[in-house]
Amino acid sequence: MAEAQYQKPLPAISSLNKPFWDALKKHELRLQKCDGCGCVSYPPSPLCPQCWSRKSSWSRMSGRGRVNSWVVFHQSYYRGFDNELPYNVAEVELDEGPRLLTNLVGIANDQIYGGMPVEIVFEDVTSEVTLAKFRPVTSGS
Ligand SMILES: [Zn+2]
Repeated sequence: MAEAQYQKPLPAISSLNKPFWDALKKHELRLQKCDGCGCVSYPPSPLCPQCWSRKSSWSRMSGRGRVNSWVVFHQSYYRGFDNELPYNVAEVELDEGPRLLTNLVGIANDQIYGGMPVEIVFEDVTSEVTLAKFRPVTSGS
């Protein structure tokens, strides 16, 4: 996809969250795992929210989780979404604990339910940015 055609907002990449976006570009989901207490946290932080350790490793996640909550937008706030109305924005709780805001794909908006098992899909939207989206877990996969 040509970059000029992507009209949705792109993430602000900082030194703090760069490892997250670099991993997505490689189609891996990595979050900070504290070297002190082992907790996994998101969004990126210089300090562990549990034990305040400054040491963490960007550890690879399973990419699986469950839908915690979601909304369906019927109005477009960005031109890039005009052709996708209505679209969903969901909060997925990863098996490892942290929650990510994302879009659910491969499912009709009225079929979404709380607790639905989902797995990550990687969407390359520009040459620099890959987004993490989630789809229902199909049985047998
Ligand atoms: Zn910790």
